[in-house]
Amino acid sequence: MRSFWFEQALQLDRSGCAPTLYGDTSADVCIVGGGYTGLWTAIHLKKASPQLDVTIIEADMCGAGASGHNGGCMMTWSTKYFTLERLFGEAEALRLVRASEQAIRHIAAFCREHDIDAQLRMDGTLYTATNEAQHGATDAVVARLDELGASSWQSLPPDELQRRAASRKHLAGIFSPVGATVHPGLLVRGLRRVALHMGVRIYENTPMRRLERDRAPLVRTPQGAVRAGKVVLALNASMPTEFPQFRRAVILVSSDMIITDPCPGRLAQIGLRNGIAVMDSRIFVYYYRTTTDGRLMLGKGGNTFAFGSRMLKIFDEPSPYRHALADSLREFFPELADIPISASWNGASERSPTGLPFFAHLDRHPSIVYGFGYSGNGVGPTYIGGQFLSSLVLGLDNEWTRSPMAKGPLGRFPPEPFRYVGSIVVRNAVRRKERAEDLGRRPSWIDTKLSKLAAAAGKSDKGDSRSGRGAIG
Ligand SMILES: Cc1cc2nc3c(=O)[nH]c(=O)nc-3n(C[C@H](O)[C@H](O)[C@H](O)COP(=O)(O)OP(=O)(O)OC[C@H]3O[C@@H](n4cnc5c(N)ncnc54)[C@H](O)[C@@H]3O)c2cc1C
Repeated sequence: MRSFWFEQALQLDRSGCAPTLYGDTSADVCIVGGGYTGLWTAIHLKKASPQLDVTIIEADMCGAGASGHNGGCMMTWSTKYFTLERLFGEAEALRLVRASEQAIRHIAAFCREHDIDAQLRMDGTLYTATNEAQHGATDAVVARLDELGASSWQSLPPDELQRRAASRKHLAGIFSPVGATVHPGLLVRGLRRVALHMGVRIYENTPMRRLERDRAPLVRTPQGAVRAGKVVLALNASMPTEFPQFRRAVILVSSDMIITDPCPGRLAQIGLRNGIAVMDSRIFVYYYRTTTDGRLMLGKGGNTFAFGSRMLKIFDEPSPYRHALADSLREFFPELADIPISASWNGASERSPTGLPFFAHLDRHPSIVYGFGYSGNGVGPTYIGGQFLSSLVLGLDNEWTRSPMAKGPLGRFPPEPFRYVGSIVVRNAVRRKERAEDLGRRPSWIDTKLSKLAAAAGKSDKGDSRSGRGAIG
């Protein structure tokens, strides 16, 4: 099933499908996967070295994966500062936070420069508390960023917060202007257009069937093969299915979304007039944003977990949680209770134990690199993913190849079946705990304890247990 965004983008994109690969070909670089990561890598490579022969092979159409399914909230890594500092030290943590802020500005500038109308609106991000228990979740990280002179966050008084978020459910919150929302499908198809224009060869409906790890690796497809000097694996949530060594490096968990019919007048009446992204502070956050044609989208992560980190058919179907999401939308916006829901969908996010992506050479093979693990915060950071992967491909000695983020996965989840059973037990405890907190009741001791494991095991949508924020999809 195509997501709502991807359908819309394909209707506007008259270029149709790129050819399927028939027969054998060769390339300097073969990128497997045509989402944001693969496309940004191709674009960075062509910018750095225009004569390089770069090919992308994509199993479906470019953007058919998470890049065409996501919520389109462009966030930074600033609220993951404590995790970054713990793992990489202060200097690298600060560099990565700043790079993630720059990424949003660079994407916006790139869209302007190349006439990509991705409906990108740089109207900032609001992180809020929707019950008493969520109060103060970001205090420590904002204080630390302030101390370092690196904070873009300001706390808002409740009436101003409720005005900007257009809902009385928010009790407290912080705002950063460094954040944006975008039409995910138009962004990914726009990147594809620019990549083609730069001379990148793209084959769609061309899945990699096998990777032969020769010195110049061979990527086999159903009807052909690409012999490449370097191979980039930009497969995202399909990595553990294709490469079992990554089954414990991430867990696959759904994000479920609904979107309303256009109702621009009604949104204006309640004060939702721009492209701000709003998220609360529960473990599996609620997040919402509007579209330029006056729709309202609401999403929530953490519902469906995949046994063994394998892609499930359900990730390609309408959201099984659409009715629960519609109820939640009415709780946020009782005034919009009569607005019909146009569509629902869901998709798989690959969550790493740290809540951060990782990049490296595949099993130390000098000519094969990979990157994934964005943990629900990839719309902005895949731009950085392209910087990591293009630098690794070009064999550069720079801040990306030297970064500890380019050393592969940091941490592993428990093996199956313990992981799956544990995920469900913890997910249900989180649901009970947050329901109790929403009702102003004290959650049970055991549910509180189990919920802490969600953050510790990286299952939290927040990614960083002390800061409370950082990923949504
Ligand atoms: C429902 C949902 C909501 C999200 N919301 C947000 C959000 O609001 N903000 C945010 O920052 N992040 C969000 N994310 C995360 C974000 O979408 C991803 O981190 C980002 O799109 C990853 O881009 P990618 O190119 O690495 O992966 P993808 O876009 O998944 O690209 C991987 C590509 O590889 C292809 N592929 C797979 N197997 C093969 C093969 N064997 N051969 C060839 N090609 C193959 C796939 O078809 C796919 O096109 C969300 C994710 C989901 C699923």
